[in-house]
Amino acid sequence: MAAETRSFQAEVSKLLHIVANALYSEREVFLRELISNAADACDKLRFLAISDPDLTADDSAFKIRISADEKAKTLTLSDNGVGMTEAELHDNLGTIARSGTSAFVDEISGDAKKDTSLIGQFGVGFYSAFMVADKVEVLTRKAGESTGWLWTSDGLGEYTVAPAEKATRGTIITLHLKKDAKEFLEKQRLQTIVRTYSDHIPFPVVFVEGEDEDTLNQASALWTRPKSEISDDDYKEFYHHVGHAFDDPWMTVHWKAEGRIEYHGLLFVPSQRPFDLFHPERRHHVKLYVKRVFITDEIEGLVPSWLRFLKGVVDCEDLPLNVSREMLQHNPVVATISKALTKRVLGDLAKKAKKEPEAYAEFWRNFGAVLKEGLYADGAEHKEALLDLVRFKSTAGDELASLDGYIERMKEGQEAIYYIAAEDEAAAKASPQLEGFVKKGVEVLFLTDPIDEFWVQTMFDGVKGKPLKSITRGGADLAAIKSGDAEKKSDAETKDDEAKDTGLVDGLIVSVKLALGATVKDVRTTDRLSESPVCLVADETDMDMNLERMLRQHKQ
Ligand code: ADP
Ligand code: MG
Repeated sequence: MAAETRSFQAEVSKLLHIVANALYSEREVFLRELISNAADACDKLRFLAISDPDLTADDSAFKIRISADEKAKTLTLSDNGVGMTEAELHDNLGTIARSGTSAFVDEISGDAKKDTSLIGQFGVGFYSAFMVADKVEVLTRKAGESTGWLWTSDGLGEYTVAPAEKATRGTIITLHLKKDAKEFLEKQRLQTIVRTYSDHIPFPVVFVEGEDEDTLNQASALWTRPKSEISDDDYKEFYHHVGHAFDDPWMTVHWKAEGRIEYHGLLFVPSQRPFDLFHPERRHHVKLYVKRVFITDEIEGLVPSWLRFLKGVVDCEDLPLNVSREMLQHNPVVATISKALTKRVLGDLAKKAKKEPEAYAEFWRNFGAVLKEGLYADGAEHKEALLDLVRFKSTAGDELASLDGYIERMKEGQEAIYYIAAEDEAAAKASPQLEGFVKKGVEVLFLTDPIDEFWVQTMFDGVKGKPLKSITRGGADLAAIKSGDAEKKSDAETKDDEAKDTGLVDGLIVSVKLALGATVKDVRTTDRLSESPVCLVADETDMDMNLERMLRQHKQ
């Protein structure tokens, strides 16, 4: 077998060009990325070894080793994790394996400053090695295979993969440090970086000097440590690792459940909206561990799809280690944890909404549309809790309105919660149906997410006894509502005007009906308008107009 040289996928080349030339002040994070990958590789093998113990029979003490060669100016990281096959080398280190990274490439602008700040936002995983090295070698052998492979590149467009000797399984990454990156040969510097970014990694990260091995991190699973011993920075770094994320957690939920089912939960709500939140294949990023052993990050049923923005870990004591992924699908233990986890997250969200409404508004902008799916999905089990959490733009002002707030602001004689469903806020505001409500000072909620059309149809019991009513449907009972300050005219004046108009209007209605014929069901006078002469409405029993528009778009 001969060496094979291939070009990087075009996106990778583009990415590497920026990475190599970035004046990124935090380039020390390359170490975090490489350690994070090494830890993932150990997790993967530990899982495989549950059903195939031979894989780790010769060596079951997972470890990540770091060593520096002053003379050769190389920094080496080695792990005894799962390793890679030849094909995996090409897939993982030649193309953009991670969807997050392709989003990064899409954003690349060519403006050095902007692109550098993008690195901090997206992170570039393995390729960050080229921030400090002008040549990188990856020597790897897949667990269970007998030959190894050497991947080499200077990050300038091509890489080479060749068969190579490797005595044991796992991966050794050698970085030939750039001239200005020699600081990463110093033990002190490396120790500080590991403590800062990788303390939570549940495998020992050791510095090797001759025969000596010095462990640099705590090497215990962060989620099992007492909360009082964990700093915000610890949580943040763990979030980066477990979520393959680069933003800060917006909210952290960490708890230990004791009793019938024992487990640890450590979950994060991101502060940035993931680019793939609405891709149909998007799933949550909560990893399932059993007694500290990683089992899977593809477990349906652990987190409802409307909490798919969550990242983190659930570590359960009450599942067998050798539980198959299929067995997990309809497992009662998983179902119980899922229920408790959902309650806990919603409870913490409610607290935050109350205590920090501005921060909550930020969360709502990112994830509100997803959360609302819970109002009608899965039997809407958590409807009550969710109705406390939903927020809307409304005619009341720029601040987001809660349903409780709306109910408090309701006018005397107002029985219903009024909303208008529209494509966006501007369309809602421009809608003539709104005029009468605005004039009377009756608040109208703007429902501008496609999902709104679905859950409002299921709100048969209303909210706290108040029905939800679309203002584009049926006869909105505005007449019964006492005017707010917005209406200037006195009642007597209005009556006068009405009396004068009635005769005229009746005649007008007859001629409009004749002109429109069968294209409309009916023509009526209304309180709904104050400026516009006419508007369309749907019947109480008909489909909402916005829903009809959406379905038409999809040719239903
Ligand atoms: P991510 O870790 O988010 O998937 P990276 O760019 O950091 O993205 O790594 C790309 C892929 O390369 C990993 O998903 C993994 O499959 C593979 N990889 C990287 N480092 C190692 C390693 N030390 N051992 C095994 N596989 C690795
Ligand atoms: Mg990685």
